[in-house]
Amino acid sequence: MSTLRRGVDRLVVVGASLTAARAVEEARSLGFEGDIVVIGEEAQAFYDRPPLSKDVLVGTVPPVPTPLLDAIDALDLDVRTSVRAIGLDPRNRVVRTSAGDVPFDAAILATGSTPRSLDVLDGVDGVLSLRSFEDAQALRERLEPGARLVVVGAGFIGGEVAASGRARGADVTLVELAALPLEQAVGSLVAERLAVLHRQYDVELRTRVTVVGTEGQGRLEKLRLSDGSVIDADVVVVGVGVDPATGWLRGSGIAVSDGVTCSPYLESTVPGVYAAGDVARWVNPWNGRSSRHEHWTAAGEQAVVAVRNALTEERQPCSIVPYFWSEWYGHKIQMLGEPADQVELTVAGGAADPFLAQYRFDGQLVGGFALDQTGLLMRRRRAISVRASWESVLR
Ligand SMILES: Cc1cc2nc3c(=O)[nH]c(=O)nc-3n(C[C@H](O)[C@H](O)[C@H](O)COP(=O)(O)OP(=O)(O)OC[C@H]3O[C@@H](n4cnc5c(N)ncnc54)[C@H](O)[C@@H]3O)c2cc1C
Repeated sequence: MSTLRRGVDRLVVVGASLTAARAVEEARSLGFEGDIVVIGEEAQAFYDRPPLSKDVLVGTVPPVPTPLLDAIDALDLDVRTSVRAIGLDPRNRVVRTSAGDVPFDAAILATGSTPRSLDVLDGVDGVLSLRSFEDAQALRERLEPGARLVVVGAGFIGGEVAASGRARGADVTLVELAALPLEQAVGSLVAERLAVLHRQYDVELRTRVTVVGTEGQGRLEKLRLSDGSVIDADVVVVGVGVDPATGWLRGSGIAVSDGVTCSPYLESTVPGVYAAGDVARWVNPWNGRSSRHEHWTAAGEQAVVAVRNALTEERQPCSIVPYFWSEWYGHKIQMLGEPADQVELTVAGGAADPFLAQYRFDGQLVGGFALDQTGLLMRRRRAISVRASWESVLR
């Protein structure tokens, strides 16, 4: 049983999504009986985002948010929704919000990230992004059969929106600046297969281009691309990445550099104030690299570490093996660890056939990518987490 830190009677969590949910659960499971205040700017707290680009968009589930906490009453939380944090005063130890100051003994910053926009598409009717439940509803309403959907950015969210659009009968064009979809995240060998996968499901993949303008009489009709071509568009989804939601911390004294700068313990530069989830940047002991993770599993893992470090005397560094999953055209995509130049496809076939790619760096197994090969990938989990030698893996 962990020893709770003395003098910490009030925990404030800023952000009311996945990281916050896992943080408050962990706080109570540690035996913390003090006040827990959760501040969230959205009207709804604690709902899950992954279904938004999948089942919710396709329409296979009712358009209601998926709750992240089952027994919320038992957690005895003071949840303040539709309240925006606008600053943090380290000296007086208060979070400043649109509804007044909230004092804290310990705080967890869990404000996540917000989608990037493209200047050229800003304010154009028919151009959407996808982060919140409301975003998903707005997009779902526009995805009619035959609608001409253009997705700008062929990353995870872009790939999912393209797949969901096809499932709804939309004509889909995927516009990507890089040579291949997800190339940076998975390496070119795997990315080439993903490009074929998109095309196999009748998505028109346009790479090495971006959007430079729009055309339309009274409504969006076409997009102009950087190679001089013009494509039809009724609805456009911008999926060109996210930025950590740190603007509200300006002037607080908390160091920020593409995320809240954290120690290995996920503590910010203000003692007692921790960060976790999409907003946190720290040096991950697993690979020694300054990282910010934008994926579901890491958010939960970081939340647990941050809360333990904030509330107990037993501090531990946060070591994370990166992991994400995605779902495209009914196929399950999973990536564990990190990519490297040396890749071996252990099960090969056509692009839509299941395969496992293993990444080797410096004689070690450092990552794996699976298409519909969950079992094989999970069998490599331990080896990837300890960066096992390639020879031992082959044995
Ligand atoms: C559509 C979609 C699909 C996804 N699918 C997958 C998937 O398949 N696999 C995967 O691994 N990951 C997926 N992710 C990523 C995963 O959902 C995120 O990594 C996760 O939500 C991060 O949780 P978080 O709590 O750190 O941040 P967020 O979920 O971004 O939550 C932050 C919350 O803080 C609030 N907030 C921000 N600023 C303030 C402020 N100043 N005051 C008060 N509140 C504030 C925000 O409104 C938000 O509610 C998906 C994300 C999206 C958007």
